[in-house]
Amino acid sequence: MTGSRRAVRTTTVIVGAGHTGLAVSHFLTQRSIAHVVIERGEVANAWRTQRWDSLRLLTPNWQSRLPGYAYDGDQPDGFMTMPEVIGFIDGYAAAIDAPVLTGTTVTSVRQVDGGYRVETDKGVFEAPTVMLASGAYNRASLPAIATEVPETITNVTPLAYRRPADLPDGAVLVVGASATGIQLADEIHRSGRPVTLAVGEHVRMPRTYRGLDVMWWMDRAGVLDEGLDDIDDLIRGRNIPSPQLVGTPDRSTLDLNALTDAGIELVGRLSALRDGVALFSGSLRNKCELADLKLARLLDRFDEWALSTGIDGDLEPPNRPAPTRVAADPRLKLDLRGGEISTIVWATGFSADYSWLEVPVLDRKGRLKHDGGVVTGAPGLYAIGLNLLRRRKSSFIHGAEDDARDLTDHLAAFVDGVARRDPAAPVT
Ligand SMILES: Cc1cc2nc3c(=O)[nH]c(=O)nc-3n(C[C@H](O)[C@H](O)[C@H](O)COP(=O)(O)OP(=O)(O)OC[C@H]3O[C@@H](n4cnc5c(N)ncnc54)[C@H](O)[C@@H]3O)c2cc1C
Repeated sequence: MTGSRRAVRTTTVIVGAGHTGLAVSHFLTQRSIAHVVIERGEVANAWRTQRWDSLRLLTPNWQSRLPGYAYDGDQPDGFMTMPEVIGFIDGYAAAIDAPVLTGTTVTSVRQVDGGYRVETDKGVFEAPTVMLASGAYNRASLPAIATEVPETITNVTPLAYRRPADLPDGAVLVVGASATGIQLADEIHRSGRPVTLAVGEHVRMPRTYRGLDVMWWMDRAGVLDEGLDDIDDLIRGRNIPSPQLVGTPDRSTLDLNALTDAGIELVGRLSALRDGVALFSGSLRNKCELADLKLARLLDRFDEWALSTGIDGDLEPPNRPAPTRVAADPRLKLDLRGGEISTIVWATGFSADYSWLEVPVLDRKGRLKHDGGVVTGAPGLYAIGLNLLRRRKSSFIHGAEDDARDLTDHLAAFVDGVARRDPAAPVT
């Protein structure tokens, strides 16, 4: 291997000590594969620094499980607050004794002879394998038109938003109606601000169905275990918005009807900004009808599964949520120069930040090219934690276990191959 600064050699460098990096560390330790987990902040940094105050997991506590570790409190059906998530992941790092170097930022990863050179602000590592566990949601994705917003408006992303009190007085336009958008619209509206919510394609989901949590259904009916072979259009599948769900102690459903009842104005997708005027698509009704239709199909699937397993008779009747109500004539324009709107919250999605990755493995949209986490064209480079990486559950906490096991199997075979070619290579 080459390079000017003296490098520490190991077998695997894991970038990131979120739950996925730790899950990989667990399996590498089981196989006695030498590794280090490099973390720019503290363990569970994303949950400490990139989430809003009131956020709770939308997955129930019983679903918070990692390899060899699971929630063991007395509220399996509750939803963790951020301090509880941080405590859970911290507890996991301690339980598996993960070799984490905190406060260390990876500044570049390059291919060199025999593997990768990983530069950090504290030193250099070289390894035949690198696992990118640096997060899929640490950069806010804003549409290009965000740059055209009048200067009088405050722009906020969910990564920076903490609480309504931090926003200037005045009305708020929330762009995006997936899990983040509906939660922030609701919270900001409850703080007394008028809220307009721009709604594009979305995935509608009730919190409970037939008396049971929707995540229970998704889990038991096999939806979350579906793998890449079960998905017709993988690119589309990887870009499906997060479900409209919230985890609250009263297990209430937060859908567009609930937001309308609360007094939030629904408009179509924000399609353009012209001379300071926001233009909304006329497709609101279509988008809502489509989401209702897809929800009906999902609930049909749950019912069929309940019948096939013989539990149907024990459940509450299959009462379906009412169709989404849409105003007869939703507003198509909103003048952002009039002073009515003070803030835009861009709940338009997230992406991964690979600004430090100097290996040519990104497509023209900046997405990692990979096959189930095995990075394309870069032997020994892996990724975990991405949406639909290998399964529908890949981006959920409990999805890390199967992905980490599969990828560690692949990585171990790769390391064995390297060792056979170069007996001097650091394999364990
Ligand atoms: C708003 C929101 C709500 C969510 N709610 C749920 C939920 O209810 N249930 C659920 O199961 N999942 C939920 N998720 C998904 C969950 O957050 C992700 O699946 C999870 O955070 C991904 O874990 P990870 O370990 O891959 O990445 P992260 O948790 O993002 O960890 C990546 C780590 O890498 C570090 N890092 C990044 N770059 C560098 C670098 N250059 N050098 C060193 N370290 C670096 C970061 O500091 C971070 O600690 C939610 C996600 C979001 C955004």
